[in-house]
Amino acid sequence: MWDNYILLLQNLGLLNRNRRTQIENQTRSIEQNTNRKKQNQTITKKNIIFNDISNIDKISKEQNLSLKEFENYIKDLQDPLTGDPIQLISNQYLYQCKKCSVFYLKESFDFIKIKNQGKCVSCNGTNIQPYFFDGKVVQVINFNPEFVTLENLSLYVNKSIKFKGTVIKILESRRGDYALMFEDKPWVEGFKLIVFYPLMKPGKGLEREFLRSLVGKTITVRGLLQYHEIFGYEILIFKRNMILNIE
Ligand SMILES: [Zn+2]
Repeated sequence: MWDNYILLLQNLGLLNRNRRTQIENQTRSIEQNTNRKKQNQTITKKNIIFNDISNIDKISKEQNLSLKEFENYIKDLQDPLTGDPIQLISNQYLYQCKKCSVFYLKESFDFIKIKNQGKCVSCNGTNIQPYFFDGKVVQVINFNPEFVTLENLSLYVNKSIKFKGTVIKILESRRGDYALMFEDKPWVEGFKLIVFYPLMKPGKGLEREFLRSLVGKTITVRGLLQYHEIFGYEILIFKRNMILNIE
């Protein structure tokens, strides 16, 4: 089945042969992750979150996708930074990385433009363009962030990651940003989750009281890993649902 898909992409000129192995490897790892998650179910084509390619054999270069088919094609995709589902919603742009093919929702695109020098949080490429549905078959991948540890942070700088740790204390910057420290060290030395003060306005879900209530709790967070020249390693988030779990 993968061979058919890759061949299709090659025939459409969407994939050159050098990328074949790379895509196959990505595909395998995504497939493995998915299979692990769904180990209690029968493994079928439908379990692959890469995209719904169950009808791929029927799609040819001449045959355009209908909007309905495209929606089905992307139905299992998630925004690589927030994990929010990628959906075609009127008045909302989708963005796509031209290097690795992940799709972004606008709020993530806006955030990485400012906070990640416009780098894709999946591949660190900088060519992310608005996506307009034109009926053409597109290559898509789903990015599932890896759990990082204090030991391997340096491998994931500027990428979307997951981390589980206990909030030891909260430090506040002069302008009101919070650092939820995962280590009992000064701001610049310890690993931390950063929440910028404008996000703490009432109603945004990241109010000060909520953040303070996390001290002593073990949290699982999904966000953008950065290494700041002065402030060191940090995870940036901009939405409450990027805190995945609180124990
Ligand atoms: Zn990318």
